[in-house]
Amino acid sequence: MGAGGNPGKSRGKVLVLLGPPGSGKGTQSKKLAAFLRVPHISTGDLLRDNIRGDTGLGRRVDTSLRSGSLVSDKLVLEMLSERIECHDCAAGFILDGFPRTVGQARALDRYFRKVNGKGGKWRELVVIQLVITEALLLQRVVGRRVCPLCSGTYNIHTQRPMIEDHCDKDGTLLVARADDNKNAIRVRLMQYEKQSRPVINYYVERQEVKQLNADQSVDEVTIQLIRMIGASSDPVINSYSDAPDCD
Ligand SMILES: [Zn+2]
Repeated sequence: MGAGGNPGKSRGKVLVLLGPPGSGKGTQSKKLAAFLRVPHISTGDLLRDNIRGDTGLGRRVDTSLRSGSLVSDKLVLEMLSERIECHDCAAGFILDGFPRTVGQARALDRYFRKVNGKGGKWRELVVIQLVITEALLLQRVVGRRVCPLCSGTYNIHTQRPMIEDHCDKDGTLLVARADDNKNAIRVRLMQYEKQSRPVINYYVERQEVKQLNADQSVDEVTIQLIRMIGASSDPVINSYSDAPDCD
């Protein structure tokens, strides 16, 4: 296949899930990625992987973190562009933790203009905001439990393990994270509101955001998300062969 590839029938959807901590964004991203057979790309994981792999980008990230500054949009974008050029992203992908700033949202728009500019619409952006009340969020986050062995996540309100307080996979006793208490969560929510409101407004102004009530069971939210994305359960036919293979 020639340079640029031909996505054929599959128009790759790029899903952006917005929502406060505790809205189930991470869980839903992972479930959707498995269902749609597309990668779940978390910018947090990308940062960690690059640092661990001691890549050129990783060293720059490490330097800026050590100096106490935030990782710049430019660095995040470089890492992300490298990742989404990989073979497995051809049929679409799910972004987690991105865009975090209006600058990043604008960069994503530029990416779309670039890939969709050459006589076809290869990529489609789907932005969904998970909406949930603060009272419910607090209850959810306080109910969160994690398995110290396999990092599996549970919730005593919404995602109970089969045996109370024990991991379904390995039976390990589940624990609450130290920062999952009400005061710490209020601080996180305030930070989130301050940082993410402009990003949400950015998409609202462009009428590009769909809202979903996240005050439902995990499975119900997943079902509705799949409907909103307009995805079928057919396996995605990935016809790219010229993109780099990345693990
Ligand atoms: Zn476990």
